[in-house]
Amino acid sequence: MTTKNGNSSQDDLSARVAELEKQLKVLLSQKSSTQKDSVPEVYCSVPQTPPRQFSPDISSERSRLLIITGNKWVNGTKLHYYFFENSRWGASDAEKDIVRQGFKVWEDVGIGIDFEEVSSPDDAEIRIGFQRGDGYWSYLGTYILNIGQSERTMNFGQDLRLDSRGVDVPVHEIGHTLGFPHSHQNPFAGIVWDRQAVIDYFSGPPNNWPLETIERNILNKLPQSQVEGSEWDPNSIMHYAFRAGLILKPEKYQGGLQPAPGLSETDIETVKFFYPKTTPVFTELKPFELQKMSLSPGQQKDFVIVPTATREYTIQTFGSTDSVMVLFEEYNGELQFVAGDDDSGFNRNARLQLRLYSDRKYALRIRLYYQWASGDTAVMLW
Ligand SMILES: [Zn+2]
Repeated sequence: MTTKNGNSSQDDLSARVAELEKQLKVLLSQKSSTQKDSVPEVYCSVPQTPPRQFSPDISSERSRLLIITGNKWVNGTKLHYYFFENSRWGASDAEKDIVRQGFKVWEDVGIGIDFEEVSSPDDAEIRIGFQRGDGYWSYLGTYILNIGQSERTMNFGQDLRLDSRGVDVPVHEIGHTLGFPHSHQNPFAGIVWDRQAVIDYFSGPPNNWPLETIERNILNKLPQSQVEGSEWDPNSIMHYAFRAGLILKPEKYQGGLQPAPGLSETDIETVKFFYPKTTPVFTELKPFELQKMSLSPGQQKDFVIVPTATREYTIQTFGSTDSVMVLFEEYNGELQFVAGDDDSGFNRNARLQLRLYSDRKYALRIRLYYQWASGDTAVMLW
């Protein structure tokens, strides 16, 4: 009996161990499948755009700075966004809400750029589509102004409700629209790819990227001229997550790289550097009065113009600078874009010639990219 009982309890024990092992196996497989799910399947691909052209006599330092700051918006800009309604590019309100939250995430940082939803593509700088199978993408910064009004500047190729990253997907795409490139292509990252594994993975479904897209969005390092600072931030919202087996070095990412969700501290610092939330101090710009500007690269000066006569005016910057000058008209308490000129990369000054009206009020914003010779810089209206 004892033996039998002993055998019986041993049998029980083995059965229980077997059952526990079975449960453990299920748990482990669930864990690995959750891990697999936490790495995205649909990735973002920034569309190919022609490289910026500069006048051949400009210095490399000057072009470096222009590339960094050149696709950023003038601070204080209100960017309008529109969701396409047609059957090809439209989406449910639930999906649009996730994108709306994405804009709010950037706004909540407290930046000098505002976002507003509009109901016509003609009023929008940012035009958003949800074409399935077309991936996630957005053009970089002010480049979106080169895209035709009936075209998309941003796309969400998968139902955002099904993406475990949720609002981080639109936050990343809006980051491109604010002018921020991919962090994993930062030359300071020191990532050594398993090139073939990367190509095999991204050329497969659901991305189905051709080699050129894989190189442009992952394998190619950005020129040092296109990254702000020398720090690599693997937790940036502008960094992809990568599954195990794609990164050879740094060794700690061989098992995969998963950026922390949300904006990183560096993301917040960077966006506040380019778009500080400041109440602009408007200096009045009167005809034939030269206004000196002491600005460092990236900085901006705001002027107000209250014409005393309706006529043709010229507004021009003076001095050896690369700058962008944008004129707005105040209308119902809001600033509306009237005209702009960007002299960056060329040895000339920003200049606007246009009709201003005596019963109206205008705001002029000048952002300095680079000062390429010593001496004062100034602006005048006449
Ligand atoms: Zn991206």
